[in-house]
Amino acid sequence: MRHLSLEHRFVRNVPRELEPGILYISMDYATAVHSCCCGCGDRVVTPFTPTDWRMTFDGESISLQPSVGNWNQKCRSHYVIQRGRVLEAGPWSQGQIEAERLRDKKAKAAHYGSLHEVRRELPGSATGGQSATAHSRSIWTRLKAWLSL
Ligand SMILES: [Zn+2]
Repeated sequence: MRHLSLEHRFVRNVPRELEPGILYISMDYATAVHSCCCGCGDRVVTPFTPTDWRMTFDGESISLQPSVGNWNQKCRSHYVIQRGRVLEAGPWSQGQIEAERLRDKKAKAAHYGSLHEVRRELPGSATGGQSATAHSRSIWTRLKAWLSL
């Protein structure tokens, strides 16, 4: 592990050339990007979504949850970024990698699937306007159908 700490930098757009030891954070794109802490220089992208990473800024330093596992990179490094410090985590076995891929897939399916359900069940509550109109129209259609019985 060459870089034991990361300095955060809030940016709008992530630069093409990454300076090692810097964690670039773009709130516009809800993503952090850094050059792999092992020193290999590979670009590590950690998007913030409910099923990927969560970023915590305590006013002084950044933490990312969960750990960063670069199993797609040659170095296969695995570390945790906690309050600007890079803590080495154990290497991944092939089994763990597959388990994590499966977890990620399931979490995404559950999250985006349920979001879809919620929108359908409660029209208008999530995105407003359009679905609320569709909802009242369907009530109106049903009401008309009932009145014409
Ligand atoms: Zn690396």
